[in-house]
Parts: sequence; C-alpha cells; structure tokens
Amino acid sequence: GLPGTPPPVLAERRKTRQLQVGPVGVGSDHPISVQSMTTTNTADINSTLQQIAELTASGCDLVRVACPSADDAEALPAIAQKSKIPVIADIHFQPKYVFAAIEAGCAGVRVNPGNIRKFDDQVAEIAHAAKDHGTPIRIGVNAGSLDKRLLEKHGKATPEALAESALWEASLFAEHDFHDLKISVKHNDPVVMVRAYEILAEQCDYPLHLGVTEAGPAFQGTIKSAVAFGALLRQGIGDTIRVSLSAPPVEEIKVGTQILQSLNLRPRKLEIVSCPSCGRAQVDVYKLADEVTAGLEGMEVPLRVAVMGCVVNGPGEAREADLGVASGNGKGQIFVKGEVIKTVPEAQIVETLIEEAMRIAEENGDV
Ligand code: SF4
Repeated sequence: GLPGTPPPVLAERRKTRQLQVGPVGVGSDHPISVQSMTTTNTADINSTLQQIAELTASGCDLVRVACPSADDAEALPAIAQKSKIPVIADIHFQPKYVFAAIEAGCAGVRVNPGNIRKFDDQVAEIAHAAKDHGTPIRIGVNAGSLDKRLLEKHGKATPEALAESALWEASLFAEHDFHDLKISVKHNDPVVMVRAYEILAEQCDYPLHLGVTEAGPAFQGTIKSAVAFGALLRQGIGDTIRVSLSAPPVEEIKVGTQILQSLNLRPRKLEIVSCPSCGRAQVDVYKLADEVTAGLEGMEVPLRVAVMGCVVNGPGEAREADLGVASGNGKGQIFVKGEVIKTVPEAQIVETLIEEAMRIAEENGDV
C-alpha cells in the first residue's frame, strides 16, 4: 500500500468497554494483546521472574501466574514489582488470595465469583477492593469447571451454557457496580468455543479474552487456536488472546503473535514466503527456508523474504518481496525490491540473504 496507509484488516473491532491492565489497555480502542501463563511454581520468585523475562523478550504483553497457595500469594508483591510486563494473578476458590493479589499490586486478577458466591458479601468486598486499586478482573469460564446449576440445565458445556455462566458471573459484580471486567469462555472444541464467544459478543460489551482451552500439543493446539481465533477475529471479536499449548509458554507467544500478524492486527515483522517445493525444485527448499528463518530470527524490521525453489514462480514471488532468492542450476538469483542484485553459488545463498537483510534493516534505521 501507500506509505502511511495501514494494511487492510478483515473486520472492524467490536465496540467494547475499555479497561487498563496496568499500562496495557484492553478493549476495542487498543491493539489486541497477547498473553501467556507461567509454568513455574509461583512461590519460586526467581524462576517465575526468569520465565516472565523470557516471555517479555518474546513479545508477551500480559502474563498470568497461578496462585493456589499461601506461599504463592506471598510471592506476588515481588513478582508484580519486578516484572516488566503486567502480572495477572489467577485464583480459584480462595477469596483471600484475591485480596492478596490486589494488595500486591497485580495488574489484574482472574477469578470466578460463582466459585466464591457462598461467601456472598465477599463478592461485594472484592468489587470494592478492585475498584479502589483500579484492578480489572477476568471472569474465566471454562468448560471443565462449569457451574453445576448450568451443567444440569444445559446437559453439558454447550455454547449457551458457557455464555450464560459468564454473564451470570458478570452480573454478580455488576450488582456492586463493578464493570472493569473482561470475559473468557473457553472450551477445547473450537466450534463450541467460537459459538460461545459469538453469543457473548452479542449480549455484552465487555472486552473478550480469547482462548481454546486444553488445545493440545504444539501442532494441534496451534491449529485449533488459529482457526478458532481467526473465525472470531474475522468478526471483530477478541481483545486479548491466549494460545494454550502443552509446550513452553514462549511458544504460545510466538503462535499468538503470528496469528495477529497474519491478519494484519499487528505489524508484520519477518515474513518468509517460501514455496512448498515440487518436482521442478533445483535446490533443497526446506533446508534453505529453515536456514534463512534461523539466520533472521528476532529481526525487528518488517521484511518479506522470498525463498523459491526454481525459476518458474521464483522470480515473480521474489520480486514481490523486499528480498528474495530464486534458485536454479546450482545458483541463486538474489532480488532486492524487484531487482536482481547478484547471482551467487548455492552455498552462499543463505549468507547473502542474511547480509542483505541486515543492510536493508540498517538503511531503514531499524538496527
Ligand atoms: Fe515448484 Fe518452483 Fe513453485 Fe517452488 S517455486 S513450488 S520449485 S514451481
């Protein structure tokens, strides 16, 4: 597009209330944030902060830590203070840890008031404490821990049951004039999950936290999350996302970031346009694409690099990219902005692409 023209997106964001999770705004006026959750023992402050630092470096916007015990609650002030990104405490059942998290300076709390409703006035107290400290709350409805009453009413965790549960929980806070809420309705089945969010999006204006829960190991979880988020983001639904993988949390951030970049919902950085290879390929495209990806990993500049196996589509794609190679005859034609700048022997393709990428980055003043 023209310089300064934002890249096209598939949908306008659904209008929501806005809230602040520390310095990170969540809602339709703000970019969609990517979050993850630590896997360390929260009470182990050093390990938890170390993992948060890794997440921060990988582009994580918000981080959640579990708080199942008193030791974990005691660790929250140090973690909240030393983390460079807002820390959200994840609490089930124990209202006293909600107060501890708010007092600790956590930027947000995840808690389901339905779980603590038996201590009825505590919902009011939580609402007051959260309001005093400006701490937003996420109501996180999960298929696996759906309220018994709704489970009986709907027979199972249907989209309607998940949405109804979330709206009921939100009403418990709304009764106390607390609306700094975001909501999630997670299910491991993308179809159920997408429907649940669609219902919720129609019935409230709270920001929504998207997640497919227990999505599985990296490959399956990546696909489930990408298709489910894509279906919702295409309707403008979703204000913050968490990809759940049975894999290290940094992988969740990479996937979440890539999903948003794919839909132009955050600026694209490094993008490798590589061909699938076919019988015409005159070079090992997989190896070449992997080596170029590895060599350029972590580049902070928007850069489209084409890696093409032959001269059929090769030059065309390579011309459309910022930088590219089309291989043939044991050589690689290196393209920069549509011009062949040189032809190098196959063994020098990777180093030449990396060199040129660095040069382009420097020219753009990004290094
Ligand atoms: Fe096949 Fe060449 Fe297309 Fe790659 S660029 S898929 S090698 S035709």
